Amino acid sequence: MIYKGIEEIKKIRDSAQLVSKTLGLMAQEIKPGVSSLYLDKIAEEFIKDNNAIPGFKGYNDFPNTLCVSVNNQVVHGIPCNKPLNDGDVISVDCGVIKEGYYGDHAYTFSVGDVSREIKDLLDVTKESLYQGIDVMIENNRIGDIGNAIQSYINLHGYGIVRELVGHGLGENLHEEPEVPNYGKKGTGKILKNGLVLAIEPMINLGTEKIKLDDDGWTFVTLDGLASAHFEHNIALIDGKPEILSTFDYIYNALGVKSEEEKRFKSLNFSLVDVFLFLSVNWVNMSRAGVRRATLPNFTVTAISPTASLIANPAPATLPTEWRLAPSNTLF
Ligand code: MG
Ligand code: MG
Repeated sequence: MIYKGIEEIKKIRDSAQLVSKTLGLMAQEIKPGVSSLYLDKIAEEFIKDNNAIPGFKGYNDFPNTLCVSVNNQVVHGIPCNKPLNDGDVISVDCGVIKEGYYGDHAYTFSVGDVSREIKDLLDVTKESLYQGIDVMIENNRIGDIGNAIQSYINLHGYGIVRELVGHGLGENLHEEPEVPNYGKKGTGKILKNGLVLAIEPMINLGTEKIKLDDDGWTFVTLDGLASAHFEHNIALIDGKPEILSTFDYIYNALGVKSEEEKRFKSLNFSLVDVFLFLSVNWVNMSRAGVRRATLPNFTVTAISPTASLIANPAPATLPTEWRLAPSNTLF
């Protein structure tokens, strides 16, 4: 596993933030009648205008800037001219390279009005991502992350895609370790400061089984039901997870208010920090004769205690065409 220093993490954050802004742009554009090829075109222009390189285009000969996966498509869908319909869901996965480092994350959007069933799938899949991030704590293990995602998804009865996994991220799009969305507590590689991961649950409304479509890229659900995919880039800093990407640009575009990422952002003060801050400022204010002061906003981050877990072997019973070489993990 490759552990990054703070300068490298800053570069990954810059790349991740550009992906975040690109997805925010997508949020403004996605509506019934729009084609995924149009989305791809404006995403590519935006990335290039920001002095970065589309990270997926040409990667293993993938033809486009975005992976766009609609309805029963799970991941790796190729943009096309077909217009989106009201009630569709579209997963947009985007990668960029800036100053030699990758950003890579994804969001699944509703197109127009979607059914309650689909809304629930999206909400649960996104929350499962945060459940996984919650346990990305120093000295936990990779299996803890998968177990947290799996445990949450199992409460809702959805299918967890097994063949495709998250991954380490940095100068390479896919680095060790692989990050399955299932697993056992206390198993797998130990998490240490400096690790940067792309965690990305792919969750199906029905069966967990998928197959590769005729185009050789797109994975689709075996039962034809919808699938959802959310991905963040996270660094392990000071023992805790810090999200380098953000969905805030999407929420701003959609007029949605969300504080879901707040607990994973910097400005993590301990109670001792807060006590010292208040003490020092009280003394200073007293000296200056100030009777009233306004405290800045700050966040006290509470992270759940360490869990432990283990790595899970890939299912051995899959038909050959569903198995992926490790290098083909996932965007
Ligand atoms: Mg991705
Ligand atoms: Mg990825």
